[in-house]
Amino acid sequence: MKLKYLVIHCTATPEGRNVTADDVDMWHRGAKRHDDGSATFLGRRMPVAELPNHFLTLPSGKKVRADQTNGNGWRRRGYSRIWLLDGTEVQTAYYNNDGWVQNDEMTNGAAGYNAQSRHVCYVGGTEQNNIKIAKDTRTQEQHKAMADYCIKTRRQHPHIEVIGHNDLNPSKACPSFDAKAWFSEIWRKQTRFVNTAS
Ligand SMILES: [Zn+2]
Repeated sequence: MKLKYLVIHCTATPEGRNVTADDVDMWHRGAKRHDDGSATFLGRRMPVAELPNHFLTLPSGKKVRADQTNGNGWRRRGYSRIWLLDGTEVQTAYYNNDGWVQNDEMTNGAAGYNAQSRHVCYVGGTEQNNIKIAKDTRTQEQHKAMADYCIKTRRQHPHIEVIGHNDLNPSKACPSFDAKAWFSEIWRKQTRFVNTAS
């Protein structure tokens, strides 16, 4: 389908906690055990005893054996880009920029919307001592990297809507800030800058 949404997420981890893109991938694509002795791994149901025959390749390139993982069992990664605390942008899924979401470009960020979305995520999003309390914990470096990315993406895809996960699913606190308001503010600023400079 046509790319319609750029959806911002958070990892819902405590402020300042160092979470890697490999960690996030293991939460999403790690094996999920079921009560009946089976497991789901990369979207496939199998006996738990088969897990050691399967491997997960993480964003860093590291491989882990499926029985050493514990996650949602998803076939797809959750996001296409993740911003670490220091602002580093990690590519977690491939896409081209043709304005369509091909099947192999899809990620799993919001049920029902994945076929028309690109999902991106920053590390953080909750209070340091209570992960039940949503908080905009973006570091200056994350802020800058995300602003650059979102502006670049909007220039490439003028019709894309930059939104938060909670705009698609109001029962979620993710990404712990008002993504629409944030983006319209930074977009307005950069437009003004471009106008006065030219
Ligand atoms: Zn989310």
